[in-house]
Amino acid sequence: MGMNVPETMASPLVWHPQTAADAWQLKQNYATDSVYISGGTLLRTHWEAGIAALPKHLIDLSTVRGLKEIRVGETGLLIGGQMSLQACRTNAFLQRHFPMVSEAIRTIAAPSVRHLATIGGNVASNIGDSVPALLAYDAELLWYDGNAEQQLPLTEWLHIASVPSLANERLLLSLLLPFKETEEQAARDDADVVFDGKDSISKMKRFGAYHKVGRREAFTPSVVTAAIKGTLADDGVLQEIRIALGGGQTVPQRLDQLEKEIVGALVDGQLLQHVYDRILQLYDPREDLFASAAYRRTTAANIIVAELWKAARL
Ligand SMILES: Cc1cc2nc3c(=O)[nH]c(=O)nc-3n(C[C@H](O)[C@H](O)[C@H](O)COP(=O)(O)OP(=O)(O)OC[C@H]3O[C@@H](n4cnc5c(N)ncnc54)[C@H](O)[C@@H]3O)c2cc1C
Repeated sequence: MGMNVPETMASPLVWHPQTAADAWQLKQNYATDSVYISGGTLLRTHWEAGIAALPKHLIDLSTVRGLKEIRVGETGLLIGGQMSLQACRTNAFLQRHFPMVSEAIRTIAAPSVRHLATIGGNVASNIGDSVPALLAYDAELLWYDGNAEQQLPLTEWLHIASVPSLANERLLLSLLLPFKETEEQAARDDADVVFDGKDSISKMKRFGAYHKVGRREAFTPSVVTAAIKGTLADDGVLQEIRIALGGGQTVPQRLDQLEKEIVGALVDGQLLQHVYDRILQLYDPREDLFASAAYRRTTAANIIVAELWKAARL
């Protein structure tokens, strides 16, 4: 099937497939005796901590062709899943047009880890700190289903992750950060003025922020991660809003119900109180030894409300 002979280690066998189809086939052949491995940085910590057993077969995705590039396509920025976090972080286009993703990556581990760790591995882990930022930009994922490349929203991918029988089927190839009307315009003229589709130009304010709260300032696992992105009209009405939360072992989620409740509303004190109360009701983080669910909820609510308050300059 056109793949290299595996390297023999004491254990396990490492396969180096060159196509997604070959990688997929190996996973079908060895099933639960195998794992896909990209940078291996998260897997190693699991093996070393005894959270997971070292499997008999490692399917190395770094040799799959075409997944180590980042390029501007017609509909958005395409990021190969094998791009290292460090290479993503230093990409000028990503920094300029999707700054929350760059900021999220900046907060992950330390440079030595970021050189090995991949963006694909961060997303495929389901709990990576880049995920809330990617959710706020409506990221789509390209994945291989055994027959063809499929595209689906990151929100759906995270949902599939909660179904164990499907979770193993996923072979992530690339990520797409789509250009929105506002980003396309911004990319063209970099101004805070957007075309509102009704033959007139109106003043809009775009805002966005990503925060990671850990137990230390730097080089720390996350307790809460939060991303917020939106547009405000000059009369203070919210035109567009994305809110995504995660952190620790919690699979990040978009608070789409809350987004629907507040889009089109005036950002005032009453709205901020509503947002705060609803985050406490809607956000359901996992607790662990480091922080309770209640602490995580309150922290997330404070971050999001503070960012909305700053955006509206109340
Ligand atoms: C010291 C240290 C600090 C860290 N700090 C952070 C942190 O602050 N924030 C954070 O988010 N992470 C952190 N990590 C975890 C890890 O480095 C990152 O999540 C990293 O992005 C994982 O990428 P990887 O390529 O190394 O993934 P791997 O370890 O290779 O794989 C991770 C998981 O994803 C699966 N997988 C990988 N690629 C694919 C694919 N293309 N398709 C399907 N499944 C795939 C693997 O089977 C595995 O289950 C840290 C790790 C270390 C060692």
